Amino acid sequence: AKNIKKHFPIRKGLLMREVGSVKAVDDVSLTVRKGETLGLVGESGCGKSTLGRTLIRLYEPTGGEITFDGQDFLNMKSGDLRKKRKNMQMIFQDPYASLDPRMTVGQIIRQPMDIHNSGTSEERNARVLELIELVGLRKAHVNRYPHEFSGGQRQRISIARAIALNPELIICDEPVSALDVSIQAQILNLLKDLQTKLGLTYIFISHDLSVIEHTCDRIAVMYLGKIVENATRDELFKNPQHPYTQALIRAIPRVGQGKKKIKRSLGGEVPSPINPPSGCSFHPRCAYKMDVCATKTPVLENTGGGHLKACWLEKAPAVVE
Ligand code: SF4
Ligand code: MG
Repeated sequence: AKNIKKHFPIRKGLLMREVGSVKAVDDVSLTVRKGETLGLVGESGCGKSTLGRTLIRLYEPTGGEITFDGQDFLNMKSGDLRKKRKNMQMIFQDPYASLDPRMTVGQIIRQPMDIHNSGTSEERNARVLELIELVGLRKAHVNRYPHEFSGGQRQRISIARAIALNPELIICDEPVSALDVSIQAQILNLLKDLQTKLGLTYIFISHDLSVIEHTCDRIAVMYLGKIVENATRDELFKNPQHPYTQALIRAIPRVGQGKKKIKRSLGGEVPSPINPPSGCSFHPRCAYKMDVCATKTPVLENTGGGHLKACWLEKAPAVVE
């Protein structure tokens, strides 16, 4: 994806005249390699979900380019687009809301095959049973309804639905955030297993850096619609260079650390994307801000070995433990 923008117009008055826009995603470039998991992390309201949806054209980008498997994804004919879209699926945060309560588990998992007219009816039913076992549920569950299942099991159902058409890319949008911590690891392990078995590529969205740490090969840190740092997982945790990334890492609760300390490490809230701060949009919250930070927007630059950061500081500040 190159220079992707997603701006939502703000309209007012009787004539619904456009009076401005929310720059939910503002000039984002990134690459996802086949078979890897790219993490998108940042506080809520940073544009992660919007970016995820824009990358698979659930939202039409306001600008930019997307290439998928060497093909121009934004200027495809509708037939080709339909075929490509089959290869891209999404798993949502809330398994309670994303499953139709009136449909059985079997109908839910079968639905994408019905929509895309994939195989005969018998083949679809056989595939449903195969998928049910693949995600760790039992064949006997096929005629039950979502409300008969726990949160973790419901997320297994939505994962089965997402992989029904053999996709290549899955956008996982906070897939474990609504689950108990004890269940989170099971779902993350399932996603990992399926990735290995099926050769899946994930874009994994989470506000929780500790979940990202256990899941992702490469991590892009988002702040107010922009990527401010992008590096491999090991590199990002060993050598975080952007003050925002450093603050997020400090905010991961560690054993023996009180709540107070966590709060102090990242003060304030994410400003509104309607009227983002000038220059580096992190400057009102940054402990290292300089004069230039409020006037000029830093661009994402390679600091060596594919580690990208957007910050005017020449050297990353030392990480204070
Ligand atoms: Fe802080 Fe300036 Fe770097 Fe922004 S550009 S993160 S304000 S030091
Ligand atoms: Mg979100």
